[in-house]
Amino acid sequence: MSRLPVVAVAGRPNVGKSTLVNRIAGRQAAIVQETAGVTRDRLELTCEWAGREFTVIDTGGVLEHGNALDAKVSEQALRAVRNADLVLFVCDVTTGITGEDADVAGQLRRLGDKVVLIANKVDSRRRELDAWELTGLGLGEPHMVSALHGRGMGDLLDAVVARLPHGAAAARSPLSGATSELDAGDSPVEAEEARIVTAAIAIVGRPNVGKSTLFNRLIGEERSIVHDLPGTTRDAIDTVIETEAGTLRLIDTAGMRRRARGADAPEYYSLVRSLKALDRADVALLVLDATEGVTHQDQRLAERVDASGSPAVILLNKWDLLATEDRLEVGEQVKDKLAFLGYAPVLRISAKTGLGVGRLLPVVVAAIGAYHRRIPTARLNDAFRAAQSAHPAPGARILYAVQGAVDPPTVTLFATRRLPPPYLRYLERFLRDRFDLGPTPIDLRVRVRAGR
Ligand code: GDP
Ligand code: GDP
Repeated sequence: MSRLPVVAVAGRPNVGKSTLVNRIAGRQAAIVQETAGVTRDRLELTCEWAGREFTVIDTGGVLEHGNALDAKVSEQALRAVRNADLVLFVCDVTTGITGEDADVAGQLRRLGDKVVLIANKVDSRRRELDAWELTGLGLGEPHMVSALHGRGMGDLLDAVVARLPHGAAAARSPLSGATSELDAGDSPVEAEEARIVTAAIAIVGRPNVGKSTLFNRLIGEERSIVHDLPGTTRDAIDTVIETEAGTLRLIDTAGMRRRARGADAPEYYSLVRSLKALDRADVALLVLDATEGVTHQDQRLAERVDASGSPAVILLNKWDLLATEDRLEVGEQVKDKLAFLGYAPVLRISAKTGLGVGRLLPVVVAAIGAYHRRIPTARLNDAFRAAQSAHPAPGARILYAVQGAVDPPTVTLFATRRLPPPYLRYLERFLRDRFDLGPTPIDLRVRVRAGR
């Protein structure tokens, strides 16, 4: 028997997901919590509307954000959302768009047209005006409903069943969890996701290195649609640009915009903002002033970038001002003083003239692609066999390897003894070349197991 189409309900806590699911299912099956952040078991219900049956899943969690405890819920939610045929993204008109909504929307935009935006708690006509604000999320016009009172539900359900796939199931089973490791690597689904990137980008650097100039160049030069989204804090603004490379989100560019309009943001404050932006970034652009070389403060910032675990791109800005004889020197300084960011590509640019800026987005997209890569276990183990036969580990043997996580690629090695750091660096280079991992950090972990 073919599987029923799957509709996943997503959104941050307390927007009314359970209430909506219950309303769709026409019964009071789930317990509706009054408090935010209460983790519930994922709920699945079989529903029917206009003669079509489908399964509704309450993802119960947000997609991003939160503390370590939330991370598990988020991952489940993300998986449910990816595997669903249709995603109902629920927002609460009584609170408006929060930073969390904006983040989730950012993740959902990459799913393309299978997302239905829902403005919940539209209990009255008057509330409809508030709902239009949600158009700013870049997910189309909201369907206005009141899950609690049933308002607008008929129209919503008509729209939902109209968009469900016909015939055999179109999506993967919602319960299968992650795709099996063997098919994950280069499956069409993965390729599809890699092409449509929604990347969050942090532009970091000391004051006056040219961050604002770069930001304005990026939003001006791309033949792109630019729109603003609220960031996580009250005065933070992210700028989203739709480019040929995908949707890019420039994190917390409020400070840079203000700078661009002439008013000065306090330097200390702007550094703090930069560092905060790193926490949410998929890629960090570390901007340096090439005329000043790599300063101590640049190094400190670079360490923070490295610690954030995001892939990084180093931008040597103001290249237009550099005398030919100084050019070599700056490159050497980067190699030397920023050696710990060795995987990061280095681009020479002029934000002011636009020189080299065109190469930036392809590099960013490559960095994100590498960051999300999953290598099938069999190919990974082939690679370690090859690496060991070229250069055996000193006094040790690697028995087995698995990639435990993506973002960044994290590989656990089971070895007969601990491996010395130079050998680990060799293995890292080997993996990077073999799988064309490019500009992403790679996390290699060793566990010692008794040999056979
Ligand atoms: P979830 O955690 O996102 O699934 O949200 P819940 O379904 O638990 O709802 C959170 C709160 O919002 C509860 O107190 C609900 O009664 C309330 N709520 C849900 N839908 C509506 C609505 O359409 N109108 C109003 N006024 N309140 C609602
Ligand atoms: P921010 O503090 O990092 O945002 O730096 P700004 O973007 O405000 O730039 C600081 C100064 O450097 C401004 O006077 C810019 O015009 C100048 N600037 C930025 N990028 C370049 C560049 O590529 N070449 C040159 N010559 N000047 C630049």
